[in-house]
Order: sequence, then C-alpha cells, then structure tokens
Amino acid sequence: MMNGKEYIESLRKYNPTIYFMGKKIESAVDEPMFFPHIHAAAMTYELAFDPRYEDVMTAESHLTGEKINRFTHIHQSVDDLVKKVRMMRLLGQKTATCFQRCVGFDALNALYITTYNIDKKHNTEYHQNFLEFLKHVQKNDLMCVGSMTDVKGDRSLRPHQQKDPDLYVHVVERREDGIVVRGAKAHQTGAVNSHEVIVMPTRALGPEDKEYAVSFAVPIDAEGLINIFSRQTNDTRRLDGDIDCGNAKYGIVGGETLMIFDDVFVPWERVFMCGEYDFAGELVETFATFHRQNYGGCKVGVADVLIGATALLAEYNGVAKASHIVDKLTEMIHLAETCWCCSLACSYEGYKTPSGAYVPNPMLANITKLNVTRFPYEWSRLAQDIAGGFVITTPSEKDLRNPETRKLIEKYMKGVEGIAVEDRLRMFRLVENLSVGAQLPESMHGAGSPQAQKIMIWRRGNVEMKKELAKIIAGIKKDEHFIKLTGVDEEEFFKKMR
Ligand code: SF4
Ligand code: FE
Repeated sequence: MMNGKEYIESLRKYNPTIYFMGKKIESAVDEPMFFPHIHAAAMTYELAFDPRYEDVMTAESHLTGEKINRFTHIHQSVDDLVKKVRMMRLLGQKTATCFQRCVGFDALNALYITTYNIDKKHNTEYHQNFLEFLKHVQKNDLMCVGSMTDVKGDRSLRPHQQKDPDLYVHVVERREDGIVVRGAKAHQTGAVNSHEVIVMPTRALGPEDKEYAVSFAVPIDAEGLINIFSRQTNDTRRLDGDIDCGNAKYGIVGGETLMIFDDVFVPWERVFMCGEYDFAGELVETFATFHRQNYGGCKVGVADVLIGATALLAEYNGVAKASHIVDKLTEMIHLAETCWCCSLACSYEGYKTPSGAYVPNPMLANITKLNVTRFPYEWSRLAQDIAGGFVITTPSEKDLRNPETRKLIEKYMKGVEGIAVEDRLRMFRLVENLSVGAQLPESMHGAGSPQAQKIMIWRRGNVEMKKELAKIIAGIKKDEHFIKLTGVDEEEFFKKMR
C-alpha cells in the first residue's frame, strides 16, 4: 500500500495530456489548481496507515491474501459493503469534499461481477483479463477513473443513430493485438490525479450498437487520451490565499475532466467487453448500484462538517441557544442521518452474486441516491438560513490582510466576545463552500441524475404485486389467511356485515 505522500509522488511516473484554461498542464502534481483534489484523493491512501481506521480503510485481498487498501478490494461479504460506506463517511468528514477514488473502486467491483457473467454466456475470457488487471491495481495500490458517462449528443437518438458516431465511445478498429477506440466521456472525476482509466458503456445497448458495447482499461497517459479539466464555481479562489476558498486544503468537489479518446489503442488483455451488447445494461446497472450506495456515506460525511460549521456560526453570531436554531440544526441532522440509514440499509441488504462478489440491494441503493438529489439542498438551505447573509458578502482575505482595511473589518465583522474575526470569516467561507458551490449539482447528478434512479426504482418497485395486495385487502380477491383467522371466508363475512 502507498501512503498519501507516496501516492502523490507516484503520479509523477505518469505523463497525462491535460489542458486547462487554454494551457497544456505539464505536471498535474505541480499545478496549484489541482492541489486540493490531489490532497483529497491522497487522504484515501493516508488513512489506511492510521491504526484507528485500519479496519474500514484496508481489507485482505481474496486473490492474494495480502493486506490492501479497501479502494482496490472486491467485496466478499455484507460486512465489506457496510465497511465501504463507513469508509465513505469517514473520508467525507476528513476532507469535506469528493475524494474521487470511489468511481474506479465501483468500476472494479461491477466489472468483476459482469465479466464473470459474460464469460459464462459467451465463453469469452474477459474475467481472466480483468483478474490480471485487478491484481495489478491491488499490488500497486492504484487509483482508477471509473469512466462511464458518454457525451451523448442528441439524447433522443441511440448511439448508432447519432450524426457523429463518436458521441459515444466505440471500437473503430479490431486488430490482432487489440482494439482502437474513439469517443469522449464527460464528468471524469479525479482524472488528472489517477493512474488508470476503466471505461464502461453508459447505457443498455441493442445489436445495432454492438461497437459501443466496449469496456477496457488504459493508463491515464495512454497515447491519444486527452483530458480537458473543467471549471467550478469560485475555483480560482484557491489561488487567492487560504480563507476565501472555504476549504483550501481539499477543495470544492471532484475535479472533473472531459476525457477524449482520440483513437486510443487497447491491447486485448486489457479488454473486458467487446461487442457483448446484451451485457451493457447489466454492467451499467451494477456499477450504478455500487455508486449510488455511496452517496449516503460521502455526502453525509460532508454534511457532518457543514452541520458543525453551521452550529459554530450560530455560536459566533450569539444565537446558538435560540430554539428555532436548535430546531433547524436538528432538522439538518435528521436529513443527513436519513441518507446514512439508506446507505447502511442497502449495504446490509446486499447479497452474493454468481461471481462470489457481493452487491448492495439495488432498490435501496437507488433510494439512497434519490434522497441525496434532494436532502442536501434542504440541509444547505437550513445552513444558509442559520449562518446569515455574510455567507455571501464577507470581505475578502486580501482586505483582511490589508493594513488599511484590517482594523475596520476586525471592528465591524466582530461577533460574540472571544471569537477572532478571522475565525468567523473562515467559518462563513466554509459554509459558503459547502452549501453554495458545486456540491449541490454534484449531489444531483453524480452517480446519475434523479430520473435514472426513478427508472430503476419503478422497474424494481413491483407494482403488480402491490396491486394484488390491494385487491386482497379490498375484498376483490381471495384472502387465503382470512378463513383461518375467523373460520369463515370473506364472502360469508361480508354478508354478515351487510
Ligand atoms: Fe466518491 Fe462521493 Fe466523490 Fe462519488 S461523489 S467519487 S461516491 S466521494
Ligand atoms: Fe460523484
């Protein structure tokens, strides 16, 4: 296993193509705009060495028996699924942001299960390919980008119907030694500070979309792989000192790229699906189940920090004892813990797949994520309500440091006695970071937009069975237990009642 520092240094061995703000970035590790994202990801490495967190942060590889970072583990039990979400909450608390490594983690687990199933049906060798790749990831403690969301073009059209066939990643050439792929993936969390990229299809596919049914892994610096790093709300504040950003050490969220595959070559031993369109939907759903499981962990860890920051601001403002403040903080806790209940529930209701790996309960994982598309908006609203307007009008750090304005700010930004003005400003900025910026759309769209969850919830909601229940209770259909309870059947009972 690598510790945090070793992880950061390990990135120097790679030379990915990255563009940002009109420039080519020569070294991701030395780019100040990427520092917070790198630090957040590094925490997934560092905590594995803290004896207090060893149990949740590490696991025993079922392939080699060696101790590994849990982010490279294949879940072998319900206990592993539960520890996963405990790890997510812990990391959310320690970074107050997205620590990025879960997407690749979930891709590993989804591919473990699906490659096994593809091989069973099609007599292919994808699972063996995948196991070799997994050993490489576990042995070297690598961070992988889980690369699913295609750019999609006109969303009313299927991949092969698009005017430009490259709007979904697809195979453009099959060679003896491998395949060549072209296309682009959007919202690639953690891409600039990962070692490997794991590509999967983004939707269920039909026979005409065979060339889009492709899954593989390549190093982040593979030839033809181009990353364009995206902007975020208030992102350049991280260059303006340590206060204004609100979370200078770990950043805003994720750190995403538009990832372009400009004819990237993939050797056959790194291919995990190529043309088996009948498994594209299964792979997407399995990945989505794993990733949606997480959101009541990571986002609740972040909410823990926000609740703490909001409670502190109430104290700094002198209103901590007001009953409506206590009530609103209680409401924030209730919302956060409800999401946590969901993550725990889908983990405890997890089960073993034919591959031997465990998967969370898909219905409950989707419920988890659908709640997270809503509740963070509400707990953020409450945080802003309690904290007050300074969340968005606090003077800048530069004005605080300027001798001409420092005294004025210190005089007029004073709250209760005994609290330094600078600390009060830091807390306003932290609440701003956690409740105003990119955190909320990430809760909405990360791991799939609300409609994607609703589709899965509706499909698994078993409304037909529920209609049967209603018919039995209403007396339209026979109730097999009623006669045993009462000695008469419902016909006779109804007659007596008339
Ligand atoms: Fe992990 Fe949460 Fe970030 Fe997704 S949003 S990568 S689950 S920390
Ligand atoms: Fe995410």
